[in-house]
Amino acid sequence: MITRETLKSLPSGVKAPPYNVADVKPGIVHFGVGNFFRAHQAFYIDKILKDDPNWGIVGVGLTDGERSEKKAKQFKEQDCLYSLTETAPSGESEVRIIGALRDYLLAPADPEAVLKRLADPSIRIVSMTITEGGYNIDESTGEFDLKNPAVQKDLKNPEKPSTVFGYVVEGLRRRRDAGVKAFTVMSCDNLRHNGHVAHKAFLGYAKARDPELAKWIEENAAFPNGMVDRITPSVSASAHKKLNEDSGLDDDLPLVAEDFTQWVLEDNFADGRPPLEKAGVQLVDDVTDYEHVKIRMLNASHITVCFPGILVGHEYVDEAVNDKELRSNLENYLNKDVIPTLKAPPGMTLEGYRDSVISRFSNRAMGDQVLRVAGDGSSKIQVFWTETVRQALEKKNDISRIAFGIAAYLEMLRGKNEKGETYEPNEPTFGDKQWELAHKDDFESALKLPSFDSWRDLDTSELNAKVVEMRKIIREKGVKAALPK
Ligand code: NAD
Repeated sequence: MITRETLKSLPSGVKAPPYNVADVKPGIVHFGVGNFFRAHQAFYIDKILKDDPNWGIVGVGLTDGERSEKKAKQFKEQDCLYSLTETAPSGESEVRIIGALRDYLLAPADPEAVLKRLADPSIRIVSMTITEGGYNIDESTGEFDLKNPAVQKDLKNPEKPSTVFGYVVEGLRRRRDAGVKAFTVMSCDNLRHNGHVAHKAFLGYAKARDPELAKWIEENAAFPNGMVDRITPSVSASAHKKLNEDSGLDDDLPLVAEDFTQWVLEDNFADGRPPLEKAGVQLVDDVTDYEHVKIRMLNASHITVCFPGILVGHEYVDEAVNDKELRSNLENYLNKDVIPTLKAPPGMTLEGYRDSVISRFSNRAMGDQVLRVAGDGSSKIQVFWTETVRQALEKKNDISRIAFGIAAYLEMLRGKNEKGETYEPNEPTFGDKQWELAHKDDFESALKLPSFDSWRDLDTSELNAKVVEMRKIIREKGVKAALPK
């Protein structure tokens, strides 16, 4: 266990927080204290607390059950301190204790404690990492899903909430009634325009609860968009043991992340913000160009290398990206198909970003599995590849690398690699009909899958013919024989 006492005699090489933890006052409430939050937002806040100690974080967990209780107990026992090991692709590591999290509340155990914090004028930001699906947006309508039973329950009893929407809106209601300023609602989830998504979700709930209150929130709160980036794997029991052996600490909550980190955030806050620029956060007027670069380069590269990587029989992302032929295909895809379609945002070069993406994927310490990355490929293809595909089709550019990616994805869905090993591809949006198409022996049927719906309005005849040709080669001669020259 590590505590404030431990900070006085840390093992050599472990950095202590560069401020007095006892001086920190809470200014942020965060919902969803997962690994990413601990390695990203808390890491940035940790860097600025020496300049302004009024931005400590109170974490809130919304789920009950044994696991959540254990986590809450561990946070309390460790004074909410934990170690973060940042590992570079070279294998070099740096360990620091993060002290930004100053309290942890388990909401089901004491809902009123959470609501009191949310109403407290010293809390000026409420942030969240509640996963991409946590915003309760109905995919078919694009609107907040009021039919969700947990939302219904909160709407019937809004002063005793259980969802993040219920808590945040009740917190804002108490502030309005007490004449306290509204706080900023800051999503740190990996969603395009996450501030807009959060706005839709929280306002969707607030309108259903009380239109007057919704109007006040709309006029007084802020919902900045942000682009967040740092690969943060979950910590297995063996990784936990190894992290402590390497650091010399006895940490119940050790964490590892890559050494790369990025946060581009719209400078749009309702009641002030921490001096985040001092910690390296890029504060901008508009995150759109940054999001495009991340989605079409980083996220697209992940699936572009993992689909064929699975067929070859690789297990980890670093193995796939270090496979010479797959890496060369990825580089060609980025150089020829993606980079010419993008505009470099201020302070970034696309070539530099490309090199950092490839170097980050080769980081062994992340232990990221190709099958995990390929999971929900159908949704990912539509978000990560569509713009590149559309531009190639519209400009009648060479479509061979794009066709190869699609062919590798479709062959990957068949669940058997070239070593003859079987695995279970994960496509949570597929029903029986989609799996039937994916498993058909012919080379065309699977092209009807919804994975390609977002460019179906264009003339895809040449692209589809090339996919069919490449699937044949993959099945007869192997995935590398189909790689475009
Ligand atoms: P995690 O499983 O460690 O943590 C997720 C946290 O969210 C948990 O505390 C969980 O209890 C909470 N949660 C889940 N659903 C919720 C809901 N509906 N309402 C309230 N709380 C909910 O996962 P993580 O690695 O921390 O990732 C969380 C999110 O962070 C991702 O979904 C993604 O949007 C973003 N992110 C992660 C990474 C990464 O590499 N891990 C990188 C960039 C962005």
